[in-house]
Amino acid sequence: MLSTGDVQGYLRKLEALLRVIKYPGYIDYNGLSKGDPSAFLPILSFTLTSFSPPFAEQLMAAGLELTGKTDLRFTETVYKVLRDIFQYKPMLTKQQFLQWGFSQRKISVICDIINLVLQKHSQLKKVSKKSFVIHHMENPMTSPTNSSHTEPFSLYNGTCASREVYSPDSSSNDAAELPGKEDKDNSLHDVGEVVTISRESWENLISRVLLLETKFEQRNTQEDCKRATDGIQSVANFGKTKKREDYLEWPEYFMAVAFLSAQRSKDPNSQVGACIVNQENKIVGIGYNGMPNGCNDDLLPWSRSADDQLDTKYPYVCHAELNAIMNKNSADVKDCTMYVALFPCNECAKLIIQAGLKEVVYLSDKYHDTPEMTASRRLLSMAKIKYRQFKPKRTEIVIDFNSINYSGMLNCATK
Ligand SMILES: [Zn+2]
Repeated sequence: MLSTGDVQGYLRKLEALLRVIKYPGYIDYNGLSKGDPSAFLPILSFTLTSFSPPFAEQLMAAGLELTGKTDLRFTETVYKVLRDIFQYKPMLTKQQFLQWGFSQRKISVICDIINLVLQKHSQLKKVSKKSFVIHHMENPMTSPTNSSHTEPFSLYNGTCASREVYSPDSSSNDAAELPGKEDKDNSLHDVGEVVTISRESWENLISRVLLLETKFEQRNTQEDCKRATDGIQSVANFGKTKKREDYLEWPEYFMAVAFLSAQRSKDPNSQVGACIVNQENKIVGIGYNGMPNGCNDDLLPWSRSADDQLDTKYPYVCHAELNAIMNKNSADVKDCTMYVALFPCNECAKLIIQAGLKEVVYLSDKYHDTPEMTASRRLLSMAKIKYRQFKPKRTEIVIDFNSINYSGMLNCATK
């Protein structure tokens, strides 16, 4: 067994690398140090699919699609990427990667992968400077050919230091941010505190998912064991029973409703949900992305690219935000808050403004650098609509239909 110190050392190394790639997501250090796969998967997903657009293009071209997959399929494809693109063999099996534990090995493998992608990114950038639009690392870098597997930090520090490329956007972002910033980490601060978990990974993580009854795995295991062996005592203590501590807080609840709704989407690549809440914390509208009412979603295209734009989904599909607003069950949605999985595009920003919403809470901002999102931020800021990123305290919420049969019997009786 490794000592905590070892894991801490690896974690620091990982932390530094995440700064290098400007990982915008929530970092679950606790999960990482315990080897919780759900703490690693979002990092892996961001590294391979979002950090380097040219690399992502290369993966797509090689038929190595990493989005919209279950954890298992995602991990299998990642291993294929490591083998085929990098000729790299991780020191743990796919199965081990998806189990708890092996934290030090996992952290070390993730560090290797980040280094490999950084190297690949510089190579690709050098080769095809003119043909790619590079969002994440558009600054001039010092001699990428010096890139070494073991010392990426000094090489990329130049990039970190000159992250002001983000400032035009992040300033408008800041203007609309809510108070209550607590990040000590300046590198996160610099990107306007846009803390993002890539939506695919989040979805992968909660594909088994969703709300209402939640579980903290470790805690529940302990509690279940205790309940089983100590039933009589718990009845004796009935009078002292306290309320649940791990109930869903409102924002988590609403965001989870948005994610649950997204599971209704038939879009094979992108499932987005939105949930509108009034000032009394009552849900007044829910929506997910899909084809308009009465339009046969078997006849309309779902692809993202085609020679003819009419053969893609874009001209037809209704975004979750539009559907949530149109599905409202109240007279209007004035002064309501919208919880939405992805930062709204400019078209949805227009709807949000015209509908009189006062706030947008989003989870992922993975298209931050696109013109649509830039326009959206511009509009929302001008219209004085607040937008802030939701930072989940937990990476998954499980709905277990069986739970009603084995837990909380006494609570049911008293409800
Ligand atoms: Zn939209």
